[in-house]
Amino acid sequence: MSSNFFQPIDASAVPRFAGLSTFMRLPAVASAEGLDIALVGIPWDGGTTNRAGARHGPREIRNQSSLMRRAHHVSGTEPFSIANVADVGDLSVNPINLVDGLKRIEDGIAAIVAVGAIPLAAGGDHLTTLPVLRAVARKAPVGMIHFDAHSDTNDRYFGDNPYTHGTPFRRAIEEGLLDPRRIVQIGIRGSIYEPGEHDWAIAQGIRIIYMEEFVRRGAASVMEEARGIVGDTPIYVTFDIDCIDPSMAPGTGTPELGGFTTREAQEMVRLLDGLTIVGADVVEVAPPFDLGGMTALAGATMMFELLCVMAKSVQAGRAPD
Ligand code: MN
Ligand code: MN
Repeated sequence: MSSNFFQPIDASAVPRFAGLSTFMRLPAVASAEGLDIALVGIPWDGGTTNRAGARHGPREIRNQSSLMRRAHHVSGTEPFSIANVADVGDLSVNPINLVDGLKRIEDGIAAIVAVGAIPLAAGGDHLTTLPVLRAVARKAPVGMIHFDAHSDTNDRYFGDNPYTHGTPFRRAIEEGLLDPRRIVQIGIRGSIYEPGEHDWAIAQGIRIIYMEEFVRRGAASVMEEARGIVGDTPIYVTFDIDCIDPSMAPGTGTPELGGFTTREAQEMVRLLDGLTIVGADVVEVAPPFDLGGMTALAGATMMFELLCVMAKSVQAGRAPD
């Protein structure tokens, strides 16, 4: 069976610095037909309120993902042997029209989901996760494990505008895409606009694990709780690169001091193993603020970590329905 699956280009035949840039050096394919997991770029940052640039994320994450090899060094997982994975390219986006941009992203992900593939997306800013959820959670609300410095449950911006990269999860809850009692947000920190900014989220039932609690408890304890909250129900995993400390991931629009090390982030993603993952993304990598590609490398590495647990989920027949 695995012999029919797509494989990365053999680095002993074509060195890893050569060739066209695709996610994990996998083939670029025109549709998700026949795939278990579709790696997809969403080059759109129309929801960004301050420092834009995440539209350039997919291209740089592809570039840095050439550093990924075939197997996971801890779990021994060989994702390309147990799941059929390829790069389906970038979704169509509209850089100057927010509502049309969201619609295009939803349609693009819906086409992936319609053929039974699971999307693993590279953003783009965090508003891109809203149309992804509109496509992934059409039938029933999903749970979510959310790594971020920010809760992204704000309400309105500049008057009555409902859509920014600070509002996607309030909208997703209002639209019935997410079950708030099965949402865990991990790594939340940084100055806020006013005390009580997270009151709405907490009142919905979201479990917010602030950075300070993570520091006290550690990854194993926090993830044990998170796993207990979502159980074996379908979940989406969203990884905002700004959850990582800006000393290790400076290339992002809204950096916050006091974040995860890349090692802590890897440890947490590995502890998603065994959950029912129906989609995932890595967002907010903004190459214009990056240094030597280090943030794009962090993004590519987190995509590989996510891919390994998602491939095992596919192999176990856990997702999607
Ligand atoms: Mn975010
Ligand atoms: Mn953030």
